[in-house]
Formats: sequence, structure tokens, C-alpha cells
Amino acid sequence: MTRRVVPAAAPARAQWEGRQARVVAWRLGYLTLALAPLALCLIDLDPGRGFWVNLSVAAGFVALSLLGLQFLLAARWPRATTPFGADVLLQFHRQVTVLIVVLALGHPTVLFVWDSRFLGLLDVVSAPMRAKLAVLSVVALLVLVATSIWRTTLRLSYPAWQTLHAGLALVVAGAALAHVIMIGYYVDQRWEQVLWIAYTAAFVWVGVYVRVVKPIGRYRRRFRVVAVTAEGGGSHGLELEPVTPAAARAFAPGQFAWIMVGRSPFALTYHPFSYASSAEHPERVRFVIRGIGPFTAGIGDVRAGADVYVDGPWGHFSPDRVDASAWVLIAGGVGITPMLSILLTRRDRGDHRPVWLFQAARDEESLVAQDLLAELAADPGVTVVPILSRPAATWTGERGRVDPDHLRRYLPADLGEVHAFVCGPPGMTDAACAAAQAAGIAPRAVHSERFSMV
Ligand SMILES: Cc1cc2nc3c(=O)[nH]c(=O)nc-3n(C[C@H](O)[C@H](O)[C@H](O)COP(=O)(O)OP(=O)(O)OC[C@H]3O[C@@H](n4cnc5c(N)ncnc54)[C@H](O)[C@@H]3O)c2cc1C
Repeated sequence: MTRRVVPAAAPARAQWEGRQARVVAWRLGYLTLALAPLALCLIDLDPGRGFWVNLSVAAGFVALSLLGLQFLLAARWPRATTPFGADVLLQFHRQVTVLIVVLALGHPTVLFVWDSRFLGLLDVVSAPMRAKLAVLSVVALLVLVATSIWRTTLRLSYPAWQTLHAGLALVVAGAALAHVIMIGYYVDQRWEQVLWIAYTAAFVWVGVYVRVVKPIGRYRRRFRVVAVTAEGGGSHGLELEPVTPAAARAFAPGQFAWIMVGRSPFALTYHPFSYASSAEHPERVRFVIRGIGPFTAGIGDVRAGADVYVDGPWGHFSPDRVDASAWVLIAGGVGITPMLSILLTRRDRGDHRPVWLFQAARDEESLVAQDLLAELAADPGVTVVPILSRPAATWTGERGRVDPDHLRRYLPADLGEVHAFVCGPPGMTDAACAAAQAAGIAPRAVHSERFSMV
């Protein structure tokens, strides 16, 4: 008999409560930290240096403080990440990078335009060390951006890119900080030194938190593989239970976790997967993973007893966040996983709201978790509709790509309080969201999760 460790979904739902207040507080904190160096320049403005030099210095300082905050955005610190969502913060992290590049390039450009003698600082042979460090920082920043945008074109594997990204980020921030200290403007007063030491200590703490504190916590709360099952469509189910029962973490149906199988909890690369099991049973969780690359292709070979480190739950893609009278679930390929969790949780909670699941796949062989879905389709109020884009000639079900007509054939005319949840690869997800809206579901009631962050 399995023991219920966390009752109902209340703890998971609690993570979203009071979200608005925390969002405002974090935004204010972020803006204050980002712009504090600007205030520092204004307070300690040296008129002798002139407007353009001060403008250039201000741009450099703001770039540096935004750079430090980038580490915080990427740290997956639950308190800061949960109110926004990990994917939203990642998107913001990318947008801020563009601003940092503009400021980092603007900082010397203003000086060059104001006085062409500054161009001599670009001579990396004869320029002083403080200028060499600035050039190193900007070049590393540009390489970091280029390798992120063109990662796949450059054929960089995700783990190789992640290692490079972390290394370059440290070079960019370290060289910029050393450049500031060696120049000595705005760092010579006692209070200025205290401020910069506090900034540096905060950023070092983020590094220690991400690379040491979090992995130790994950080791203490590690899971163990109980079973590995074939699930069709080239995917495997990975069933886990916590090594110590207290380590079970409440999650909401539709959320995901970053996991690492078999290696050290200190491994740099964790992979994101949606929970595919009932949120009512966090003491026995399951992921369904399709083999597409180095990590996922090895899941079928994982043995029972292997350690698994789980960083989660994360994500805002959950019916627990909304008041809906019924749900429309649209899944593409292995995007079926959060839908399995939604359906299993619905069953365990005795929730009788109607639900329609449209499962898009290429052909019969690509359909994932068919045995479990056949069982779930027997639950009262559940309708499961597979839609195949390239089925065998003998297929009698729906054909093509998900479109509004497919949905209209099964859904009721009144879709007032119906919410749609769409998950799959990016292109399919965009098309299915558009189909849900065209079928009559309000845009605010269409929620999506893309199985692609980078
Ligand atoms: C929120 C979310 C939930 C997901 N849920 C599932 C699921 O339930 N089942 C499932 O089979 N797949 C899921 N995925 C996709 C899964 O994370 C990738 O297929 C897997 O990480 C690929 O790793 P790989 O080494 O096998 O393949 P690779 O060939 O190395 O990667 C293929 C692509 O996956 C992405 N990727 C790879 N590693 C990572 C990483 N560490 N972090 C983020 N993205 C990465 C990159 O875009 C990469 O180009 C999910 C993805 C996201 C973003």
C-alpha cells in the first residue's frame, strides 16, 4: 500500500497564492539593484569629467549590475522564480542580455565619439591592463551571445553549450569587475567600497547557492528508480520514489521538474520533464521520456535502484491555477505527459468536470502511453481523440493536423468557462493554440507549454 505523504494539492497551489504582491516586490527589488550604480554615479558626479564621460560610466555600471542580476535570474531560486515562472524568467534573461550588449558597447563608444584619443585603449598590446580587461569582457560577452543564438548551427550539444555559457558569463563579469576596480572611479570612498563588496558578495553567494547548496539539498531529497517501462512512440516511463519519504514534494498537475539520473547531484546539466503522474501521490512520481538525444536515449537502459536528483516542481502550466468548468487538452507527441498528470489527478480527486483530450501524433506507432490512456478514457466525462497526420490506410479516426474543425466536432457549443491546455513542440503548440481560439475558447483561457526552452 502506498502512503500519502502530502494531502491533496493545497501545498502546490499555495505556491501561487499572493503571487501579485510578490511579483511587484521582486520587480521593485530588481529595478533598485539594477539602477543603484546609476544613482551612485549621479550622487558622486564629478563635473570635471564632463557629461559624456559620466554618461559612459553610468552605462558601464548599469551593464555590470544587470550582468550580476543575470546570475540570479538563471539560478532557479524558488522564491524569485515561482511568482513569474521559470520559462518567463528565462525569456526575460535573454531580453536583458540584449540591453547589456547595448550598454556594454555604448559605454566605450560614447568615449570614442567624445574624444578619439580613447581609441588607443583598443590597442590590446600597449593598452593598460584595465583596458585589456574591458576588451576581454566585451569580447566574451559577444561570444556568449553568438553561441547562444547559433548553438544548433554551431552544432554545440546542450551540455557543452551550458558549460561554455557558465564559463563565459564568469569571464564577462569577473573581467568587468576587475576593470572597474582598476579604474578606481566611484570605488574609492568607503561607502562605495562597501556597496561594491556587498554586490560582489551577493553574486558569489548566488554561485555558491546554485553549485553547492542546491545540489546538497537535492542529494538529501534524492529519488530512486522503482521501474522503467516502455510507453510506445520511442518513450519510456521512469517511476521514482523518494529515498526518504519526507523528501516527497507536492506538485500541481501540469508542472515539470529538472532531473538528473545516476550521476552526481553536482552535475551541471539537468533536463526538464513534466510530471506524468498524479499530483495526489508525490511519494511515487513518474516521468515519460522520449529518446531524442544523448540523455533521453539512455533512459530505457536505466536500472531500478539508480539515484535520481529532482529539482522541482516548476511551471505555471496547470489547471489548478484557474477556475474552469471543463478542460480541453491538446497534446503533440510526448507533450502528452502533463495531460496524463492532469487526468490522473482528476481521477484521484474525484473531480467530475468534463475533459476532452486531443492527442496529435504522426502515426499509430508514435502514440505515447496508449495503455494508460485507454484506461483513463473509461473514466466518466473523459473523451480521448487521437489525431494522426500520417496514419496507415486502415486508420478510421481523425486525420491531419489539429484544426478548429477537429475540436468543433467534439466540443459543446458553449465554451464560456472552458480552459484549454496545449503542450508539445513549439510549432505544433502555436498552431493548436490558434485552433483552440478559432474553435471559440477565449484567448485568456488558452494556456500552453512548449517543450523547448533554448
Ligand atoms: C518544460 C519542459 C518539459 C518537458 N517535458 C518533457 C517530457 O515530459 N517528456 C519528454 O520526453 N521531453 C520533455 N521535454 C523535452 C526534454 O527536456 C528534452 O527532450 C531533453 O532535455 C533532450 O535532452 P537530450 O540530451 O536527450 O537531447 P539533445 O539532443 O541534447 O537535446 C535536444 C533539444 O532539447 C533541448 N534540451 C536539451 N537538454 C536540455 C536541458 N538540459 N534543458 C533544457 N532544454 C534542453 C534543447 O533544445 C536541445 O536542442 C520537456 C522540455 C521542457 C522545456
